[in-house]
Amino acid sequence: MDNSQRLRREPPPFRPVEVARSEPLSPYLRRMTLSGRELEGFDIGLAASSVRLLLPCGDEYLEVPTWNGNEFLLADGQRPTIRTVTPVRFDANRLEVDVEVVLHGQGPLSQWATSAKPGARVAVSGPGRGYDIDQDALSFLIAGDESAIPAIRTIIPALPEAADVQVIIEVRAGEGIVELPTRPDLDIAWHEQGADAPRDQLLRSIRETNSDPTTQYWVAGEAAAVQRIRKYLFNDKNVERSAAVVRGYWKLNRSSGPTRPKGPTAQQGSVGEV
Ligand SMILES: Cc1cc2nc3c(=O)[nH]c(=O)nc-3n(C[C@H](O)[C@H](O)[C@H](O)COP(=O)(O)OP(=O)(O)OC[C@H]3O[C@@H](n4cnc5c(N)ncnc54)[C@H](O)[C@@H]3O)c2cc1C
Repeated sequence: MDNSQRLRREPPPFRPVEVARSEPLSPYLRRMTLSGRELEGFDIGLAASSVRLLLPCGDEYLEVPTWNGNEFLLADGQRPTIRTVTPVRFDANRLEVDVEVVLHGQGPLSQWATSAKPGARVAVSGPGRGYDIDQDALSFLIAGDESAIPAIRTIIPALPEAADVQVIIEVRAGEGIVELPTRPDLDIAWHEQGADAPRDQLLRSIRETNSDPTTQYWVAGEAAAVQRIRKYLFNDKNVERSAAVVRGYWKLNRSSGPTRPKGPTAQQGSVGEV
């Protein structure tokens, strides 16, 4: 069977929801609360799981795509605008799910979070895989850029009670610092993005951190930056593969999927998944 014939497992169906409310957590991060009866039976999954967020084609227009065995497609055969985010909180009584979106200025997800008003329609599909935490581990180093803040918000309370936890977060500027859950033995270091070596603050900080051979790592952020961290951990520091989860969440100067700005016709270029 060649690749064009290979069928992929169908993701969970899209559940249409509406924006119930939104609030700024910082100038660069906005919490969007989505609600709807279709969230009945939804499950947030493990910490740092993900959902696909289907965005409307225009201000109002939300066409739910169908799965063709390989990908979601709209009725006209085009690819819908779908982005990946982290479900941060699910309230089964109120049928609400919170997601938090980085306002980076470009891209349909960022633009949607900047302008979507209560009642705006989107749809969620998920959850996707999350962080399977070793509950016997006693030391964790959790690191990420702004896109990983929502995931880190879910990881902190899910770590074993007795563990020492170091969190390192790279933000654009100081105003990007947000409140995170607290716990005993938690150390959070915030770093502003360096102009000299963009997005390598995380790598630098991880290099400078005292970690012992039993430390477990979870790292997410810009794909090339986390690739350098992956190399450092596995090649220089000889961390066991099973002790580190390193995930590229987005790619610098590349959109993570198609963009259909208005109506069911036009499609701009897609440059692949993160
Ligand atoms: C498992 C997983 C969980 C994720 N969770 C979240 C989450 O909870 N919240 C969240 O905001 N993002 C999250 N992301 C990242 C998010 O999916 C991408 O950042 C996505 O590309 C944003 O889509 P967009 O439409 O705004 O921009 P795109 O159309 O994808 O890209 C347009 C331009 O914006 C740039 N860009 C994209 N993302 C960023 C960014 N974060 N910072 C600066 N520039 C950027 C691209 O390089 C490109 O030049 C997650 C990704 C994964 C894989």
